[in-house]
Amino acid sequence: MGKTLNIKSRSKTEFIDITDDIQNVIKESGVNDGVCHIYVPHTTAGITINEGADPSVKRDILTSINRLIPFEGDYQHMEGNSAAHIKSSLVGVSKTVLIEDGKLLLGTWQSVYFCEFDGPRHRRVIVKIV
Ligand code: ZN
Repeated sequence: MGKTLNIKSRSKTEFIDITDDIQNVIKESGVNDGVCHIYVPHTTAGITINEGADPSVKRDILTSINRLIPFEGDYQHMEGNSAAHIKSSLVGVSKTVLIEDGKLLLGTWQSVYFCEFDGPRHRRVIVKIV
């Protein structure tokens, strides 16, 4: 069972918490024990899991990524968004999380984030429940 989440990013770079959306897909699937694959079919976006309690954490991660990989640099890619491609490759475009008792088996402080690196745009996240 699978579902595609439609996401609208509002900034050039942004982390969007999609934990509840994924949880809803699992609920709809009726799967109690299984595996949840989360996949982003884009070359300038990504997926990560990190703290969801304190919003300063996602801000600090994003600020640091943007500092490590500046928007302007010695890039050759004609489209002008090389920084976004590099960030996507470093962060990665997929995660796998176990499902237990019908819920994502996340740690207390963990949330799943869609990572926008070249927004604002309409994006898709593919969720597959096995
Ligand atoms: Zn490009």
